[in-house]
Amino acid sequence: MDQARTCIKCKHTMIPQLVQKVEVDVCPNCGGLWLDKDEIRELSKKSDKDLSDLRKILQQSEKKGFKPPTTVKEPCPACSGKLSVAVLGPIFVEHCTSCDGLYLDKGEMDETIKILKMSGDKIATIVALAKTVVTSGTI
Ligand SMILES: [Zn+2]
Ligand SMILES: [Zn+2]
Repeated sequence: MDQARTCIKCKHTMIPQLVQKVEVDVCPNCGGLWLDKDEIRELSKKSDKDLSDLRKILQQSEKKGFKPPTTVKEPCPACSGKLSVAVLGPIFVEHCTSCDGLYLDKGEMDETIKILKMSGDKIATIVALAKTVVTSGTI
């Protein structure tokens, strides 16, 4: 089993959730979502119905009106690598430059999946976008 991960936005312990055989980490406090490499692609293959449980869990997170900070100084919750901010259309997600994990704020999952589907299911697109952000050093 993986060690429990800590939410990079609110420091709460994240809880692993099995969504149609994909294990993701959910923050029960702020509704943040941690996805290991390729898990976002796995999620994007699921039907809306398959994702409804996860969506419900995220929406039920306790802290109402929590505004996650756009930038965090925390290391990657999975590998302690450096996190950078990746711009995905209208949203910002945290991307680990070492393990390619992604952190999504509450409500960003659907948006990310939408963008992934528009980009032709290419996770490489997201990672490439993220790397552009890293090398340019701007958000
Ligand atoms: Zn949190
Ligand atoms: Zn990492």
